[in-house]
Amino acid sequence: MTGEAPPEPDGAKGVHGARLTVDLAALAANWRRLAAEAPGAECGAVVKADAYGTGIGGAGPALWAAGCRTFFVAHLSEGLAARAVLPEAAIYVLNGLLPGAGPAFAAADLRPVLGSLDELTEWAALSRGRRPAALHVDTGMNRLGLSIPEALALGGDARIAEAGLDLVMSHFVSAERPGDPVNARQIADFSRVRAALPGLRGSLANSSGIFLDGARHDLLRPGYALFGGNPTPGRANPMRPVVRLEAAIVQIRQVEAGMTAGYNGLWTAPGPRRLATLSLGYADGLPRALSGRGHALVGGVPCPILGLVSMDLIILDVTDAPAARRGASAVLIGDALDLDTVGRSAGTIGYEILTGLGSRYVRDYGGEVEHTLS
Ligand SMILES: *Cc1c(COP(=O)(O)O)cnc(C)c1O
Repeated sequence: MTGEAPPEPDGAKGVHGARLTVDLAALAANWRRLAAEAPGAECGAVVKADAYGTGIGGAGPALWAAGCRTFFVAHLSEGLAARAVLPEAAIYVLNGLLPGAGPAFAAADLRPVLGSLDELTEWAALSRGRRPAALHVDTGMNRLGLSIPEALALGGDARIAEAGLDLVMSHFVSAERPGDPVNARQIADFSRVRAALPGLRGSLANSSGIFLDGARHDLLRPGYALFGGNPTPGRANPMRPVVRLEAAIVQIRQVEAGMTAGYNGLWTAPGPRRLATLSLGYADGLPRALSGRGHALVGGVPCPILGLVSMDLIILDVTDAPAARRGASAVLIGDALDLDTVGRSAGTIGYEILTGLGSRYVRDYGGEVEHTLS
């Protein structure tokens, strides 16, 4: 359109048209930052959902190199993927032990987080004190874990040693809301449980819990904050951004008043407009709820996402962005569009944006480009 030379071709853009950059130095800095909040405790890392969408193959070793030795995943399958890149780490599997799964845990040296007396009994029979595990006690989520009375009654039970228990943990209901009275209740209940189970290390704090008084115990379990999410909503984000999502503009179109764009013609041009098409959509984890609500930055200018987000494409109004041209980069996550902002625009939370990032992206760990497109 302008006759300017197109930008330098970029190998990654040629593969998919969008690039997910994961800043591993920022990830490591975030882990150190959280560890420094609780000098007396160990700082672990929750790397479920493929390290919150960033890729366990990049994130796991970077956290290990920063000094992290204890990791948490949700599923056995994620534990196996984590074990492949973290041969010496302690890896706990949060979602518990399904009947008969014990041998698969043992074979990969994974530690189940036992969430019921049945799980405890089953693991004790397999472990015979030789294979470690954690015990989950429910203090309010009603999702996983022994009830408080069950945990209190377990004091002195032989199964503690037989199951190789080395950690007792619980999980906050509302840690990101420091004023919620449920926090103080859970902190008090967890202390009672720990007193009944002496000798076990304790772990209570997720990312936001690290910033609550009395919640740190022996082992921290941050996830979201490691990857740049704000653990202190309503206050300045102490974390560094880790994830950046950019897409190359595929083409620029000029439309006139009355023309529509996208499925169902939901957007009508109010006058002459320049539109830009990007090749990413809801199949790449860009929620359809961003239709008509989200933005991308082109040359730093916020450009509205117009019409419906489709599976593989979105349309921007770039009328006010002089930098917009074929091949130019649009930022979907990064700079002013931080994770929490994008989550809010989509009517969700940054967690869902992160973990929804699809498998089609080229993941760029700074130098190493991992072509995940098969
Ligand atoms: C996901 C999870 C965490 C990490 O939570 P963040 O809010 O992401 O820090 C910690 N503990 C348990 C049990 C979890 O399921």
